[in-house]
Amino acid sequence: MSEEIRDVIIVGSGPAGWTAALYAARAGLNPLVIGGAIDAGGALMRTTTVENFPGFPEGIFGPDLMTKMQEQAEKFGAEMIYEDVTDFQLEGDVKVLRTDDDAVYRARTVILSLGSAYRKLGLDGEAQFSARGVSYCATCDGFFFKDQEIAVVGGGDSAVTDALFLTRFASKVHVIHRRDELRASKIMADRLLADPKVEMHWNSQVVDILGEDGGSANAVVLRDTQTGEEHTLPVGGVFVAIGQEPRTDILGGQVQLDDHGYIVVQEPGTATSLPGVFAAGDVVDHVYCQAITAAGTGARAALDAQHYLEQQSALALAARQSLADGQNSADGQTTGGTPAASDTQTAENGQAKDNASQPDSAVIGDTALSANSAAASTGNSAE
Ligand SMILES: Cc1cc2nc3c(=O)[nH]c(=O)nc-3n(C[C@H](O)[C@H](O)[C@H](O)COP(=O)(O)OP(=O)(O)OC[C@H]3O[C@@H](n4cnc5c(N)ncnc54)[C@H](O)[C@@H]3O)c2cc1C
Repeated sequence: MSEEIRDVIIVGSGPAGWTAALYAARAGLNPLVIGGAIDAGGALMRTTTVENFPGFPEGIFGPDLMTKMQEQAEKFGAEMIYEDVTDFQLEGDVKVLRTDDDAVYRARTVILSLGSAYRKLGLDGEAQFSARGVSYCATCDGFFFKDQEIAVVGGGDSAVTDALFLTRFASKVHVIHRRDELRASKIMADRLLADPKVEMHWNSQVVDILGEDGGSANAVVLRDTQTGEEHTLPVGGVFVAIGQEPRTDILGGQVQLDDHGYIVVQEPGTATSLPGVFAAGDVVDHVYCQAITAAGTGARAALDAQHYLEQQSALALAARQSLADGQNSADGQTTGGTPAASDTQTAENGQAKDNASQPDSAVIGDTALSANSAAASTGNSAE
């Protein structure tokens, strides 16, 4: 196990993670980004053109945007490893993270930017035919369904974006939605409804996904949510786009979560219920869920972590100063040697000891952290 204790480890390499890394790197905190083994770059790696990230009037391809974010953070010293954290020990002054490679990393602060995962329908057929006709990523898998009829399940922005994208390949796109109107933004909904390749199935719920044993999915069973009638719709593929769930199960309840499983932070900051642990992006936010909002909270998390480290450093210095003062006064009092002075000395030493025994604070004071953080603060305020 590496003995190195980092100032900041950022878990997640989506817009929140890379923005946190950029800010932490520019603050001289040498952040390590543990960016994910298979999902590095986050949700935007699965999309095409991003039209609403400021600074790109022509739009930018999602994976290109993530590459640029990574390059910008790395330019200032952020380090990235392509691993998943499989075990988090977030309590105490030094946080310990174990990855799928069985490596162990330690840090004084951790920024959780874990994003969210695709919500599943929870059907047996969905699990059986996952990656064999059932997909959660239109941009990754759409190409495989050229000239076939396919189904998209959902009615929000993701479903509509996916369905529109899939019209490039499919001969027909069946959009299956449980309600009688789309939840997607009006501009997207209008585009979808005007597309001649799209057929809407309103008030319809997927109750089964069918296929051949050992083969691929070839049909969905739909139930009318109003009449309860069921019928089978033959399709070559099924794209499930019914939303996301925060990736917080892995935290094992160490930080406070809300009723929907999102990390609770002390708004407007990013501090979680555990000191030194901050959270940013879609793992916190189930309202806005945008690249730019995730990036915004990533910046806040890095600044919060920096501030926390400075405070810890100041505490450690104060504790050492107090200890030294106590020592000096003890030396003086020993020379004088009166019983009354001896009592005072004991009291002062006791106080100093209490301060010094704040967990690991002396360790923090012994590192170059305070110099780094102070320099970082100065740098930031000068800009
Ligand atoms: C298809 C699609 C299209 C979209 N289009 C747009 C758009 O046009 N404009 C827009 O603003 N937003 C869009 N969004 C939303 C946007 O992508 C998200 O809001 C944004 O990516 C959230 O950023 P994040 O950093 O919080 O999480 P994510 O981008 O999801 O990143 C999470 C990161 O955490 C990592 N991770 C998770 N668990 C672990 C672990 N245990 N160990 C290590 N790493 C871990 C993952 O590997 C990943 O790198 C789209 C989303 C999707 C799915």
